Parts: sequence; structure tokens; C-alpha cells
Amino acid sequence: MRIGQGFDLHRLIEGRKLLLGGVEIPSSKGEDAHSDGDVLLHAVIDALLGAEALGDIGKLFPPSDPKYKDAKSSALLLEAKKLTRCKLVNLDCTIILQEPKIGKYADAIRENLASLLDAEVKNISVKAKTAEGLGAIGEGAAVAASVIVLVE
Ligand code: MG
Repeated sequence: MRIGQGFDLHRLIEGRKLLLGGVEIPSSKGEDAHSDGDVLLHAVIDALLGAEALGDIGKLFPPSDPKYKDAKSSALLLEAKKLTRCKLVNLDCTIILQEPKIGKYADAIRENLASLLDAEVKNISVKAKTAEGLGAIGEGAAVAASVIVLVE
């Protein structure tokens, strides 16, 4: 058994899509990034890479590489997954976002993650919380995701 941890944070700006775990959430602001900016998928990638000490998302898909401009994070996840050899036991995710409220999308995100990872939905947990109005996330200027994974 091995454990992996991932964290990511992106600035939120007008005119961008808000993608969380590959699910588009209706919102006036979305993630600013070189790729599509899906903060949850980025944290999942780092957790999977971390579990097997394979480096990190920035090393694998450098933001300086024009190839990854507007890259779909779901495609990056599938590419990262090819490098891993372990089987997923369970994945637990926390999204920190002030607004909109995303609790009602948690099951759709779990299902999409399960499909991307060839896992069962029961082994994927997605939780959502706000930042209680504090700091950059609380002011609606950023979104973050924290992920932990167990593999065997
Ligand atoms: Mg990122």
C-alpha cells in the first residue's frame, strides 16, 4: 500500500470555465491557467504521482510547453495514469470554493473521476467546503483542492 497527497490552487477570473473533476459548474468565474485549469484533476494527478514518487504535474506537463496550452486536464490525468503501476484503493477529495455552492455536483464529480480512473464510485469521495469568507478563496478570487489517495 502507498499513499499520495495532492494540492492545487488556481485564480478565478471572469470569462473562464469552472471545471472541477472534469465537470463544468455554472459560474460567472472560472480557473485561470495555461491548461483548462481543473484544480481538482490537477490535485488528483499530483496525488497519484506522489503515491509512486513519480514527480509532479509541473514536471510531467510543463506550463512553458505550448503543447499544454488549454490542455484538457482529463487527458493529462489519463496520460499520468499510464505511468502509474498501482491500483487505486480509494481517493478522498476536498474542494475549497466560496461560491457557487457545489455540494449538489459532488456525485457527478465522483462518477466522472471513477470513470477516468477505472474505479468504483464507492471508492471515490468528493467533499466541498467554503473558506468562511476568509482570504483569497473566501473573497472568491481562488479555488483550491486537496486530495489524498491510497493505492496498492
Ligand atoms: Mg493546476
